Amino acid sequence: MALTIIKPRIRGFICTTAHPAGCTSNVNDQIKIATSEQKDIKVPFRVLVIGSSTGYGLAARIAAGAMYGAATIGVFFEREGNESKSGTPGFYNTAAYHQYALENDLISLNVNGDAYSHTIKEKTLDLIHNRLGQVDLVIYSLASPRRTDPETGETYQSEISPIGESYRGKTIDLNREVVNEVIVEPAQNEGIRGTVKVMGGDDLELWANALLDAGLLADGARIVPFSYIGPSLTWPIYRSGTIGRAKEHLEKTTKAINERVELIGGSALVSVNKAVITQASAAIPVVPLYISLLYRIMRERKVHEDPIHQMIRLYKDHIGPNTKPNLDSEGRIRLDDLELDKSIQAEIDTAWPQIETDNFVSLTDYETYKRGFRQLFGFEVDGINYDNPVEVEADL
Ligand code: NAD
Repeated sequence: MALTIIKPRIRGFICTTAHPAGCTSNVNDQIKIATSEQKDIKVPFRVLVIGSSTGYGLAARIAAGAMYGAATIGVFFEREGNESKSGTPGFYNTAAYHQYALENDLISLNVNGDAYSHTIKEKTLDLIHNRLGQVDLVIYSLASPRRTDPETGETYQSEISPIGESYRGKTIDLNREVVNEVIVEPAQNEGIRGTVKVMGGDDLELWANALLDAGLLADGARIVPFSYIGPSLTWPIYRSGTIGRAKEHLEKTTKAINERVELIGGSALVSVNKAVITQASAAIPVVPLYISLLYRIMRERKVHEDPIHQMIRLYKDHIGPNTKPNLDSEGRIRLDDLELDKSIQAEIDTAWPQIETDNFVSLTDYETYKRGFRQLFGFEVDGINYDNPVEVEADL
């Protein structure tokens, strides 16, 4: 037992504390939304989520469990709490999902460690073999600044930089809450290579081959990694930059993996998701301001979606049991269709040049962004008294 009062400690796009009760409440809210979409399926649904503790991966796990009663196995890299330090939000999120699963007789297996390593892959494969037999779906939702290649021992760093020429653009300084211009110098070759090594398809391929070689993918199984394209406004820093290069590599690798998975009647498909508030997206220049504006417009048009809504749509329309995916001309699932709707992007293009420090709070949904960011760490969640001490240790 370790009871502590926890307050937010935020600097820019990082918060170094997390509130267990707030994180639990967030997870329970998502469970409630997904439960309202419950489906009675007559087939087993066993889902491996790699990167399952926050953001899209967490929502994918929750939706699988709450909509279909799926057995889930989550792989994540999170820190436990103790009396001197709170754990990371992903640890508390996972504990909250695990508790829900126990109460509802759902299988929930957890592997906490570096998903890029051979050790964690082997541990996960053993658990699948011993507890689930096989899996029907693999969701790949890792976002990380670095990766150690398990074959060579070399550690690569990913970076968010343009390629070819420097980028000048508008961004919010999250510390000072001002809109200013950011200049990002173009990546060197090493930066491009590093980003592709971390966020490209190499690790996904290692997972897919290990699962296939061990016979742990059920007939008809699907492997679904996540990607992002976004509007032309963010292309110089995102899609045409280092991270976009990595996503292109991920998409190409997925096509190669698909050829192997097709042999067992399954498929490997990229899902292109919409921009949402997560720890990963907060770190990209321009994107928090873009998301603040996007959220305002999508809310006004009543088409707003958080990760849980996107993941519900992913299962319902594309990859849930007995569901056939709808694909674009490149063979990808597109959950970013509403974000990229022409009239929404036209409104963004009109508003964007007008945004400055004096008006960004009224022109965008920045207050929602700010609160949404804090809520990722369990703060500013309705119904939580932050003056009360809470238990910082949790059980998986
Ligand atoms: P996130 O930061 O919320 O989640 C990342 C997950 O990866 C966490 O569960 C974390 O524990 C896990 N992780 C990181 N390094 C790990 C490691 N070494 N070993 C094991 N687990 C590790 O990120 P997110 O925004 O949900 O992004 C997930 C995926 O979705 C990424 O591929 C991202 O590009 C994609 N995506 C994100 C957005 C967005 O707007 N956030 C939009 C479209 C696509």
